[in-house]
Amino acid sequence: MKPAVLVIDMLNDFVKGSLKVEGADQAASKIAKLLAEARRRKVPVIYACDSHVPGVDRELEAWGPHALRGSWGAKIIDELAPSDGDFVVEKRRYSAFYATDLDLLLRELLVDTLILTGVATEICVQHTAADAFYRGYSIVVVEDCVKGLSEEAHRRGLEAMRALYKAKVVSLDEALILLASSQL
Ligand SMILES: [Zn+2]
Repeated sequence: MKPAVLVIDMLNDFVKGSLKVEGADQAASKIAKLLAEARRRKVPVIYACDSHVPGVDRELEAWGPHALRGSWGAKIIDELAPSDGDFVVEKRRYSAFYATDLDLLLRELLVDTLILTGVATEICVQHTAADAFYRGYSIVVVEDCVKGLSEEAHRRGLEAMRALYKAKVVSLDEALILLASSQL
């Protein structure tokens, strides 16, 4: 197994701003632990970040203005600021794969397994899991490192990923063990 950790939409707007996801700040402190371990073990850390073009992106029609390119809201929260060697992929749709170079990056890094974290479980995380499944990646979702728009929606998202995309849903502790045992 060659994993990468994906951090989805841990941006100011989703954690503190216009589309705040309740509990995302608690997930952030857990994600920080996972990222520290990933970097220590040289597991790639990839941020997938909404970066919407005002007046153009269809997603804004559904959700209103959020994560507008270049704005404070589109910045990764300070608590999870990228380190040297991390990767940042900007996206304009829910999926981190859609019209981005994520797949190319993962292939160049020889990654076969995605460890998913971030928000929202049933939206961007789930859509990214779907696209990962279509492309043949194994999927791990870290239950306490993702948050949904509600607890019910979060559960529904996890269940869908498990059932439809064969995602393994694990705790942070299990994910840390997984990183320790991965072939690097
Ligand atoms: Zn968006």
